Amino acid sequence: MSVVVVGSANVDLVVDVPRTPGAGETVLGGDLRRSPGGKGANQAVAAALAGGADTTFVGALGRDEAAELLLDSLRDAGVRVDLVQLVSAPTGTALITVAPSGENAIVVAPGANSRLDLGTAQTARIALADVVLAQLEIPLDAVRAAASARNPGALMVLNAAPTRELPDDLWHTLDLLVVNEHEAADLAGTPEALLERVPAAVVTLGAEGCLVARRGSEPVRIPGIQVDAVDTTGAGDTFCGVLAASLARGLDLAESARLACVAAALSVTRRGAQAVVPTVGEVAAARG
Ligand code: ATP
Repeated sequence: MSVVVVGSANVDLVVDVPRTPGAGETVLGGDLRRSPGGKGANQAVAAALAGGADTTFVGALGRDEAAELLLDSLRDAGVRVDLVQLVSAPTGTALITVAPSGENAIVVAPGANSRLDLGTAQTARIALADVVLAQLEIPLDAVRAAASARNPGALMVLNAAPTRELPDDLWHTLDLLVVNEHEAADLAGTPEALLERVPAAVVTLGAEGCLVARRGSEPVRIPGIQVDAVDTTGAGDTFCGVLAASLARGLDLAESARLACVAAALSVTRRGAQAVVPTVGEVAAARG
């Protein structure tokens, strides 16, 4: 029941704003908060802490103080960080504004993330994983290397965020795609069209939960959990991490998506990305 997450790690610089600024506009916000983030690191924390899986994070960090913040957060969640690469570029940074509605706007400076280059130690660990989970804040070659290193019996899961054109050779390596509604529309138009390219897809629907689609079966709608949303930053990441961990624990796709919805809903009731990931016990209690 092990998961390897191949992806980005960023320091999140977060400011609460009265409204998301438009082009050319300056908006006065609240105090700056600095916290560990990045889709890969967030998903690894969620897989370990909320999903209860043995989790390794494979990513690249700079040789700077920001890297320490990220490594501490990953270690605190129980994620293995022995295969993290330290490179000559600043640790990735995300600039995030959060509006009172909980809506966020994000700009990412990838830095070290764009230098990730899997070596034999990384591919050897990937070959032992039950689930390999990647996103698109790292070079496509790193995603490709992760997909080809995995064991044939393991699942290759891609959270195609932020969306970009995917080459055919990469589509063919995927067992499961996880995207939000906008990403699904950008990639294929409809969930049905996604299934022409991958055997299974989960489309997250914000407060409405998610849709689980598999080739040859009727799509299954998993309802959202009603909560008071405070900050949706990282909801999708908590979802992906718990989904991957639950699949690694042998649960089926629909049950894994149900647990992922519960964990993601718990995470939006609190401010932040990694610090708000619930524990396995909290997820189980809320699942009932
Ligand atoms: P983000 O980019 O904000 O991390 P996303 O756009 O990738 O998120 P969403 O579809 O917004 O993904 O959310 C992912 C999951 O989080 C949803 O499937 C749902 O389970 C949960 N979620 C998000 N927002 C809410 C909410 N307001 N109430 C309850 N659950 C939520």
